[in-house]
Amino acid sequence: MSVLVVGSIALDDIETPFGKREGILGGSASYFSIAASNFTGVKIVAVVGEDFPDDHLKMFESYNINLHGVKKAQGKTFRWQGRYGYDLNEPLTLGTYLNVFETFDPVIPDDYSQEDYVFLANIDPELQLNVLDQVKAPKVVALDTMNYWIENKPLELKKVLERVNVLIVNDSETRELAKEPRITRAARIVMDMGPEVLIVKRGEYGALLFSRDGIFWAPSYPLEEVVDPTGAGDSFAGGFMGYIAGNEIQDIVGFKKAVVHGSVIASFTVEDFSVDRLVLLKKEEIETRYQAFLKLSNLD
Ligand code: AMP
Repeated sequence: MSVLVVGSIALDDIETPFGKREGILGGSASYFSIAASNFTGVKIVAVVGEDFPDDHLKMFESYNINLHGVKKAQGKTFRWQGRYGYDLNEPLTLGTYLNVFETFDPVIPDDYSQEDYVFLANIDPELQLNVLDQVKAPKVVALDTMNYWIENKPLELKKVLERVNVLIVNDSETRELAKEPRITRAARIVMDMGPEVLIVKRGEYGALLFSRDGIFWAPSYPLEEVVDPTGAGDSFAGGFMGYIAGNEIQDIVGFKKAVVHGSVIASFTVEDFSVDRLVLLKKEEIETRYQAFLKLSNLD
């Protein structure tokens, strides 16, 4: 099995209290796909500009990531500039240069249209709907979005929500979407909009999974080394969806295990800039940290 992701591939300029990097590989599809590749094959639909280094494309391919759906367009690659203070949970966006992303119109290649597992990263909900119209009969569709779309395209977003199984968002997005400050009530309201499963990411405080089965909480790993939180959310989604696709999961116990695997992968991402830590990740390290995660809240 494999997973299809539609999202951004970017060159980022990042500043954290621990250093500064310019023009490093970023974007939701980049983090997602390398994270997911630990468990399954990945197919990306995205766009890059003429300035995008071939070395990055070769790196993706070396991780069993299919780039057939990645278009090289005239112009520059999408660029995001962000700065983090000592509260590493929220970045300050210094600049967003859409460049070739401005006219991004995702076309799902024929050999991608039968995918069972689909992740719609944070892009315009109209484009997300467009993607859903091009995939045949997916088993699990997961979605990410952000406050900007909740505020500016609420009707389109509601239509997407009716067609997805899993919504992966953060705390403030959940509250804003539901127009309800109390998180458990907000979760119920959001699930009534369509998704059977809602995952609320709470940065260093972990992730909550809401389903008809109740609430499940997975902590974040208490790390000594956090260098750059960029990509934590997309790596979480990649670990989660990769685990689901790789193990063909459709039951709630499997979803809970997938949440913990998502948290495990995200905990590695933040240990270095860009995907630098992710590309070094070994199977044994994932397993060791998974066991350490289980110990975090085990009472025996
Ligand atoms: P995350 O930290 O997981 O929320 O995602 C970080 C990545 O999202 C960065 O590498 C950025 O390049 C990318 N990004 C930031 N803003 C946007 C946007 N408006 N649309 C698509 N991707 C974005």
